[in-house]
Amino acid sequence: MEGPFGLVPTMGALHAGHASLVSRARSECRSVGVSIFVNPSQFGPGEDYKSYPRPVERDLALLESLGADVVWMPRPESIYPPGYRTWVEVAEITEPLEGQSRPGHFRGVATIVARLLNSFTPDRAYFGQKDAQQVAVLRRMVRDLDFPVEVVVCPTVREPDGLAMSSRNAYLNPEERKAAAVLYRALTAAKEKYDQGERNAESLRSTMRAVLRSEPLASEQYISAADPESLQELETIGRGALLSMAVRIGKARLIDNIVL
Ligand code: AMP
Repeated sequence: MEGPFGLVPTMGALHAGHASLVSRARSECRSVGVSIFVNPSQFGPGEDYKSYPRPVERDLALLESLGADVVWMPRPESIYPPGYRTWVEVAEITEPLEGQSRPGHFRGVATIVARLLNSFTPDRAYFGQKDAQQVAVLRRMVRDLDFPVEVVVCPTVREPDGLAMSSRNAYLNPEERKAAAVLYRALTAAKEKYDQGERNAESLRSTMRAVLRSEPLASEQYISAADPESLQELETIGRGALLSMAVRIGKARLIDNIVL
């Protein structure tokens, strides 16, 4: 295939967020590849690996309409055959936030992305800001292991009420779907305070917490105002600080973030 080659790794159940990555790749690269792989090693026991939506025909039709050149859909046994023993561990920045609730998650993510980068040697790999910690972890891995790839991060695509698009939004019933707008409301409330001059990180975390608590269907897993690279909680907010949260609503565990 002709270069530059852009790769968009996904787990399928594609929506406008994924489409924005493919379109960006299409606009910047001669050839565009998309992987669809629900990667078992990034799901914990009791998580939704088995029930994760897999609308393959719809995904393929969408990717065709977006102009993807190749789609790769491996079977789990071909990625993790008997005897598979190799894992990529990114230290420290995988521990807070998502790492707290989902131990082992980023080991699975880093391992599959390293595998994709080795197998396809793309010039550019496209990821969404929606998964901010994933971006930090993969940037670190690419730097540390010297993968010859440019990591391109695309903005979070949202529904009209602010809810970040996610394959897991399909788990929400209509009432929960309405409630789910609370994540973005909480983030924007904190951003407003920041824009008005507030620089105390705890005050921004409190603002987000108060908005979340106003929604009875939402239960907080974490709320964070952290450095975007080290992911350490901040005392004082500076430019580029990452506000993020994970919230459970019904059967769905939703994450969202904004960068100040
Ligand atoms: P996933 O299929 O959930 O693993 O996501 C595949 C890629 O799409 C990841 O890089 C995500 O960060 C990105 N992505 C998912 N949702 C969105 C969204 N709402 N906006 C932008 N990118 C997204």
